[in-house]
Amino acid sequence: MGELPFSGRIERQGAMNPSTEGQSATWDLTGLYQTPKDPSWADDLNRGLELARKFHAAYKGVDFSLLSPAVFSQVLKEYESIQEEKVKPFLYASLLFSEDSQNNEYKTLLQNAKERWNDLETEILFFRLALIGLSEEKVREVLSYPPLKNYEHALLFLRRFRPFTRTEKEEEILSRKNLTGRSAFTTLFDEFTGSFTFRLEVEGEEKELTGSEMLSLLYSPDRSLRERAFRTFLQRHRDNHLVLASVFNALILDAQVEDDLRGYRGPMHRTHLENEIPPETVDLMMEVTESHYSLAQEYFQVKACLLGLPKLKNYDLYAPLPGSRKGIAFDEARALLRQSFQDFHPLFGRIAGEFFDRRWIDSPPRRGKYGGAFCSGMTPALHPYILLNYTGNLRDVLTLAHEMGHGIHFYLARRQTLMNFDAPLTLAETASVFGELVMTQALLREEQDLSVRLALLCIEIEDMIATVFRQNVLTRFEQQLYQKRRERLLTSEEIGELWWQANARLFGDSVEMIPEYRYGWAYISHFIHSRFYCYSYIFGELASLALFRKYEEEGPSFLNQLIRLLERGGSGSPHELLKEAGVDVEQGDFWQKGFRVIRQLIDELKSLGPWDKICVGPPI
Ligand SMILES: [Zn+2]
Repeated sequence: MGELPFSGRIERQGAMNPSTEGQSATWDLTGLYQTPKDPSWADDLNRGLELARKFHAAYKGVDFSLLSPAVFSQVLKEYESIQEEKVKPFLYASLLFSEDSQNNEYKTLLQNAKERWNDLETEILFFRLALIGLSEEKVREVLSYPPLKNYEHALLFLRRFRPFTRTEKEEEILSRKNLTGRSAFTTLFDEFTGSFTFRLEVEGEEKELTGSEMLSLLYSPDRSLRERAFRTFLQRHRDNHLVLASVFNALILDAQVEDDLRGYRGPMHRTHLENEIPPETVDLMMEVTESHYSLAQEYFQVKACLLGLPKLKNYDLYAPLPGSRKGIAFDEARALLRQSFQDFHPLFGRIAGEFFDRRWIDSPPRRGKYGGAFCSGMTPALHPYILLNYTGNLRDVLTLAHEMGHGIHFYLARRQTLMNFDAPLTLAETASVFGELVMTQALLREEQDLSVRLALLCIEIEDMIATVFRQNVLTRFEQQLYQKRRERLLTSEEIGELWWQANARLFGDSVEMIPEYRYGWAYISHFIHSRFYCYSYIFGELASLALFRKYEEEGPSFLNQLIRLLERGGSGSPHELLKEAGVDVEQGDFWQKGFRVIRQLIDELKSLGPWDKICVGPPI
């Protein structure tokens, strides 16, 4: 799955089983440009670059510490508006491309936009470095100027990287050498694994499938298909272990060399700074998560029972229950979502209504379309868009609610300026978690059919397990990997052993891993693209669940705090924003709160017995 340079796009892997779509919605992009041939697209792109060049000519070499706060504020806003110029044509091209990646016109458009993006970035990079290099006194002086009040977080955030930023010349060398170093290995990984195609018999027909299509078969109700797909997929990675292990080894070493050159203390230091989370907080969060592994194991046993299996194999984890196939036409899902969001808070209902009425959603699966779901946050001047592959099953309805949560978050953050717009990674899932839980509760209230109720709860719990427990496993594995690589080059068997051990701790006796899973590390692109990224998922989910718990305890009076948190976008640190919403990460039992929500859902699932009637497997 290609990752785009713009961070405001939040993706979600989904099952791909195009079937009936009922009614559907397509998005209307004419608010951005009339057509892909619209001359104003190229005009905007050129104007952005033109402004960047002028900016470079006017300010390169200027000593910013000598500027008055008023002039400094002007320059900062100019810089911000250039950023805004570059984003619109790029996002338009990337939305078209996600609509149809086979379309050559869209491909060219996106490629052009990316190249211009890089050209523009090069022109204005010096200013970012100058911002990082400002002295403490100067930052304090400019922040005392009222129009800059809201930039406090953005400017202080950049300063955190000051001790680890080298001179402009050194930065340039590092960045240019990256083309043949880090980014060459990343591209090799993407292109190499992206070229894998797999032949597999699906429903009696021999098919040629891509890697993400193979993984989406893990959501198939057909057990033998899930097994064949997963084994075949992993075997291909095993067959290519030499290249893949070599890429991992090179990238880890590269990160270590650069960290040493910059003076970072340990492999996670930089990520912690980016996430604005102290290392002790992350350590504690991961320990508490580990101490709850038994919760996941308890769920896996319930699931085995529901599937009629003595024990789950790891290709059964996402197997759908029969009730999840309940068909819900898009129109029905839309009505359900509008009503449940409206009942939750009128503002949520109103914004969701706008998404449907003004056609900001693209719902039906199509050939060439991006296979999962995402919400593109765009910029404060533009509104967000949502892409889905809506086929009408329960998971799709929850995905709609999830992405709508993101949409509402971006919508509310539009009162910020671009530099303060994107919520920190660790808070980016707040509204989506709420959206999903609100929808689940609404569906549970209406639904009488036991099999559908079971399926709903399972989908919710599985999402949480994937976001909290699995990401903890991934992060533990990554920590081990970096530690061992410090000592020497690692073979793929050694990497596989670390991977196996980390997973075994989560599964315990409740899930059996297939032997090919020793190569399960080799396809996870987060390890390649953004190291230690995965722990922010744990933080985000547990923080959102803690907020949800607070909402359950305090009722609707809490919602104003939630909305204020969403409106703040990225204008504060995660710690600060959460504190304003009334939860304190530092408090001893903070991390326990999220697990209570998971516990509650598992208890609710178990209360749906009698288990001797619904359970086709051994008793739990
Ligand atoms: Zn999300």
